[in-house]
Formats: sequence, structure tokens, C-alpha cells
Amino acid sequence: MLALHGTGVSGGVSIGKAFVLQRGLPEVPEYMLPRHFIDAEIVRFTRAVENARRQLISIREDIPENAPSEAASFIDTHLLILEDKMISEAPIDAIRNEQRNAEWALKTQSELLSRMFEQMDDPYLRNKKTDVNQVVERVLRNLMKQNNDDHEQLAAGEIVIANDLTPADTVILKRKKIRAFVTNMGGPISHTAILARSLGIPAVVSVHGATRYIRNGEDLIVDGKRGILIVGPDKKTIAEYRRLQREIVHLRKELHRLRTSPTVTRDRRRITLLANIELPADIKAAVQAGAAGIGLYRTEFLFMNRAGMPSEEEQFRAYVKVARALAGKPVTIRTLDLGADKQVDGGRASTAVTVNPALGLRAVRLCLHDTSLFRPQLRAILRASAFGKVRIMIPMLSSQDELHRVLDLIEETKAELKRERESFNPRIPVGGMIEVPAAAVSADLFAPYLDFFSIGTNDLIQYTLAIDRVDDAVNYLYDPLHPSVLRLISLIIKAAKAARIPVAMCGEMAGDPRYTRLLLGLGLTEFSMHPATLLMVKKVVRQSNMKALANFSRRVLKRRDIREVHSLINTLNESGSA
Ligand code: PEP
Ligand code: MG
Repeated sequence: MLALHGTGVSGGVSIGKAFVLQRGLPEVPEYMLPRHFIDAEIVRFTRAVENARRQLISIREDIPENAPSEAASFIDTHLLILEDKMISEAPIDAIRNEQRNAEWALKTQSELLSRMFEQMDDPYLRNKKTDVNQVVERVLRNLMKQNNDDHEQLAAGEIVIANDLTPADTVILKRKKIRAFVTNMGGPISHTAILARSLGIPAVVSVHGATRYIRNGEDLIVDGKRGILIVGPDKKTIAEYRRLQREIVHLRKELHRLRTSPTVTRDRRRITLLANIELPADIKAAVQAGAAGIGLYRTEFLFMNRAGMPSEEEQFRAYVKVARALAGKPVTIRTLDLGADKQVDGGRASTAVTVNPALGLRAVRLCLHDTSLFRPQLRAILRASAFGKVRIMIPMLSSQDELHRVLDLIEETKAELKRERESFNPRIPVGGMIEVPAAAVSADLFAPYLDFFSIGTNDLIQYTLAIDRVDDAVNYLYDPLHPSVLRLISLIIKAAKAARIPVAMCGEMAGDPRYTRLLLGLGLTEFSMHPATLLMVKKVVRQSNMKALANFSRRVLKRRDIREVHSLINTLNESGSA
């Protein structure tokens, strides 16, 4: 029995047999061509590109209804890469000029591209290297008549072990109803991880050497929560994990029953659990989980994986769709948070490649810098406010000046719409995300001008602890329980209370039930999260006593050592008390 450790990115336990996907760039032959073969070789190459395109389109068409919305976007990215001249045309010149075979021409071209991507400062674009390699691999397999979709041999229920998985792979895996997957590569925010979480199957990434140590058909246990992969488990271990599986099934049933139960603590405090969504298609999951509304609509996803920007009209339609579907429940539309790791493929923000993109022209900074991007969005949100309980939320505020410029723009837009006799809610609530330490420590100065706060812990932690969210090498420092993070959260909640404005939390921390008790104790009563985690948080809320937790959280805030904080929280969570 062997245990391999990685990063658990999607919880649950799976027991089954391994199916090792042997992928990666195939060995490429290199040979000279007689001149009169060149035209035929070019035809062979263009056919392979066309076949790859058809395969991707057919995978896209086959995406199951319940697949996450990101699935189609990822395949669209591969289609865009395939259409790029560097992939579809430059190799033709190489075949003609160098008189070499198509595989060699494509491989040489892709190496050139890979080096270009490696040298890019922007981590998002650097990450795109993987997508380029996956597209090149697909064309090469078509040229060499190798099976691109070797998952055809995959039986339902198997555990897939791969070096990395493409988005297209993940969609096919979903149809095959596999039990779990494990990859050599990847981090908690990789495409693979995002998809696994939405698919709801256990997954462990970054298990270096998984494809080397595991053979097809070998017995495996995947523990997605703890990030452990057990190879060749003994009877006792299998029995233990079977028991854990039964507990998980039982827990899911119990959680489902909570859907319609009120979200109140034992001491009768009402707590609001909201959903985070990326696209209108995500509303269904939010409604199914019984969310009290949308606490964060990440509108930038409307701008990604496309050639141009969405018009005011297209944005308006998307926002109205969400507002109507929520039937009077609040819908918090966050204005564009583009830049840093969220670049658009065909639009203006993609040119904003800077040395430190997370500290650069992103979110509200980009919107104020380019109001031709911001104004249509403000118009669309305001117009949508006539169709539901719409609220505006401004990301990444860091200075008063910025806030006032945004508020002025909103007022100007309202005046403009009034002149045009367009309907909108003149008292639309405007809130701010508190996710930059500068805004957190001066939250009391922001509060008088805002209708609500929402704490963005993903960025607040990144900026407070000075760790790039997308840099694998410093992931280990990412800790929501760092005393400085907890002090800032407490400060923000207190500032909101003093100013009598509501405060929510919409970062990942809000959806992690390990932190629910602590946050309740700090006085947080509004949580916004991925719909998949909502009922787990609800369960903890219903077991909690706000008053008792307030004492507990005060004790936690006094701790100097991060290990002590962890141990206090673990003990409380395990006891299930307060
Ligand atoms: C956050 O920063 O916590 C947040 C919710 O926003 P995003 O993850 O989109 O930056
Ligand atoms: Mg953020």
C-alpha cells in the first residue's frame, strides 16, 4: 500500500480502479520531402487542423446540460488557439520553405510559441501555454492518426490518472460518469480544479509522479478532501473509507433536507446565505441550493472567451435574466473585475500586461481609466434595476477619491437615463468590496458613502500576506486564519456595524464550513458562496449560538501564534458545540 499526497481540490471519497491516460506530445518524426510532395503535405496538415476543429466542436455540442458553464468557454479557447495563424498557417510556410514534414513543422512552431508564453510576465498568459500545448497535441495526433480520445476505452466508474486534463477531457469524463480524477500537475485554481468542484467529483491535483507510479487497473482510493491517493489499499483501509463514503452519502441526504429549513442560529439569529455566480446559467444551482439571493455576480465572465466586448444591450439582457430569475431576491452585480488573472481574450484589457498585474490596472481602476468600458455597464445595471432587487457592487476600492469618482459616474448615468426616460431604481444600493488592506483599515471612512460592504477574502488575503493568488510556489502561505487577516475582518465588520450598514463576505472563506463558527462569532451574518457549499454552511449555522461564539472569537483574536488559532478552531469544529 502506498499513499501519495497532493492538493485536494474537490471533496469526497472514491474507491475504484485506475485508468491511466497516457498523454503529452507524441514522439514526432522528422524527414525531408521531395519538392513535388510539398502540396500534398500541406493538404495533410490542413486536414489535420480541420479534423481537430471538428472534434472540438463535437465535444462542445456534447456538453451535458448540467456541466459547469466554464466547460464550453474552455473549449472555445482551444478553438480560438486553433484558429491562430501561428498554429494554422505558420507551419505551412515551414513545410514549404524547409521542405520538412507537417509534424516537424508544427512541433517547431509550437516550441517557438511555448518559449514566447514562458517569457510573459502575466501569469494568466503564461498559463495559456498549457492550452496551446493541448491544441498542438490534438493536431499532432490527427496527423499521426493516433487516437485523440483515448478515453473511449474508459469504463464508467473508473478513476482517471493523468498528467493534466484539458477542459475537453473533463467534459468527456463527465459523460463517462467517472468516479474521480488525479493529476500530476495543477493547483487549486487551475481549470481542472474549478471544473472538478462544479462537477462534484473528488479530485486531487499536483500529485507529482502519479502517472509514473500507477498502473492501469490498480486499486485506488481518492480522498479529495485531504488530498490523498492510496495505491493498492489493504482490506482495513478499504473498510475505513467505505464507512467514510456512507457518512458522506448520509450527510448529503441530510443536507438536502435542509434546503427549505430556515437559516437561523440556536439563539434565533437570522443568517443570510447568498450565492456567487459567474454567468446567468449558474442561477439554477443557486436556486436549487435555496440561496436567499445573489451576493456576488462576477460580470467579467461575460467579457471572456470572445473576440469583442459585450454591448450595453447584451449586458442588460444578461442582468435582467438574473434579476427576473431571482424573483425579488437581491442580486448583487459586481462591476467589471478584469485584469490580473482575469484577462479578456479579444478585448482591451488583454493589452494591460504589466510586471505586477495583481497590483496594476485591474477592476475599478481599469473601469475608471477607460470609462467607455464602464459607462455601458453602469447603464445596463441601472436599467436592469427596474426588473428586480438589483444592487451595484464596486470591486477593489482602495481610496476615497476612487469611490467618489465612481459615485459621481453613477449619478451622471442616472441623470442620462432619466433624460432618455429609461426606467431604473433611483435608490439602487451601491456597495463596495473591501478586499484591499487600505480599504479594510479605513473601512470607517468608506462606510458613510456606501450602502453595504462585502469582504473579498480572496484578494484581502493575497494583498495582506503579499502572496500572489495564482503563484503555486507561495500557495502554502495562503491562510485565512492568519491573525492579521482575522483582525482586518473584525475591523471591517465593526466599521459596518458602527455605520449601520450591512456587511457580507463573498470570498472563498465564506463558503468553507470550517470558518463558519469563527465568522459568526466575529458578528458576520451574511455569507455569499458557491452554491455547492451553501447547505454545508447552513448546517453549521443551525448548530451555532452567536452569543457563545462571540466569546470564542474574542479569544481567537487574542492569539499570537497561527498554530494556536488553528488548534482552537479545529477543536471547536470537532466538538460541534457553540
Ligand atoms: C475576492 O477577492 O474575495 C472575491 C470574491 O472576488 P474575486 O475572487 O473575483 O477576486
Ligand atoms: Mg476579489
